[in-house]
Amino acid sequence: MPKILCRCNNVLNLILSPSKHGYRLVSESLIDSLYGSTEPVNDIVSKVNLSTVMVYRCDSCGRLIVFWDKQKNVPKFYVVEQPDELAASGKTDDLSGSAGGPSTLGHSPE
Ligand SMILES: [Zn+2]
Repeated sequence: MPKILCRCNNVLNLILSPSKHGYRLVSESLIDSLYGSTEPVNDIVSKVNLSTVMVYRCDSCGRLIVFWDKQKNVPKFYVVEQPDELAASGKTDDLSGSAGGPSTLGHSPE
């Protein structure tokens, strides 16, 4: 896999290792399992390399190209949402619940 063609037609050259485009996706459970390990560092790095998901980031459009299944070698492409797309969809980063203060539904004047 020396090259990846992004959906934006940018070619990610992966010949050099480590690749400037390459990242690893690590599960929380794997990280937890490594705390307090007495294994040699090289063994830990090997374990991480075998257990992580390869991710590449397109330096042109910012898409993440994720190889979830190492056996199939078929990537999934994740495009970056633009802030105006988030606003149009009604999604926000606010996870605190409904916005706008207390509801007036059901309120009856004295
Ligand atoms: Zn791209």
